[in-house]
Amino acid sequence: MSRRTLIIVLALCIAVAVFAIGNFVLIRNEDESSTEEPTVETTAVNSPTGAEKTEPQEPTDAGDTTQMTTQTTTNPEATTSAASDATTAKAPEITEKKTGSADEYEYAYAGFNPSVAVINSEKWNLLLVNQDYILPDSYTVKTANIAGGSGQKLDYRVVPYYDKMVAAAAADGISLIPVSGYRSLDRQRSNFERKINYYTGLGHNKAEATRLASKIVLMPGTSEHNAGLAMDFGTNGNYNLDENFAKTEAFKWLSAHAADYGFILRYDSDTTDITKITYEPWHWRYVGVQAAKEIKASGVTLEEYLGMA
Ligand SMILES: [Zn+2]
Repeated sequence: MSRRTLIIVLALCIAVAVFAIGNFVLIRNEDESSTEEPTVETTAVNSPTGAEKTEPQEPTDAGDTTQMTTQTTTNPEATTSAASDATTAKAPEITEKKTGSADEYEYAYAGFNPSVAVINSEKWNLLLVNQDYILPDSYTVKTANIAGGSGQKLDYRVVPYYDKMVAAAAADGISLIPVSGYRSLDRQRSNFERKINYYTGLGHNKAEATRLASKIVLMPGTSEHNAGLAMDFGTNGNYNLDENFAKTEAFKWLSAHAADYGFILRYDSDTTDITKITYEPWHWRYVGVQAAKEIKASGVTLEEYLGMA
């Protein structure tokens, strides 16, 4: 073998060796790239995660839909809660029951069930009592005698106005004869019972008789006389309270001037549907000068004036 041949053989060997090493490196790179593939797979795992992210959103949406459905289902519940609101709205029924406990009210058998009147000490003159509003049990009236020695009494705060009115009428030559001012509850009860008996005597059953009586005499505690705020007038020689009083000079004078002293005709002929009381030209109620003038000018009832008709 020549030296030249030996060099060629060595060169070949080196070439082979270089090739083999290079190949080995390539294989390793492939491995690394394959280990990088999992990285890609990780990305792939991430993308499923992304898909999961999307998916959960879908379920979330679906959940929302479900929730909306649930809400729709809840809506009936809302209806139920609305129903429970209605139950809350039915609370007045409980109040009614309270009043209903006034089934024990002595004239409940005739359909009466008055609420307790609201007492406003600053607007005492505008106190409303009628078939629907009764004086509280605790209500006390401080009365005073009116002038003239009749022995009739009114709420002491009304007396000065009453006396002035009577004096002014007298100055005009008109006699205002007091027949009935303040009445105790006992007196009112006996008046009312007497009227019931009158109607039962005519053949009406008790409930009917009671309802008929209530149009003329109010039940105890529901009369303005019980509060000392009203006066019934008669004429000389006629203490009977009847519609003939409307034909008297006294009535004409009252119609013209009573409001200047704070009094109003309480039960007019055309307001019986509101007051539930027959025409009583003799019954004059103190409401205060301003209210009396306003009520007279507008022609409304006290119930309407107070917005409680
Ligand atoms: Zn009266």
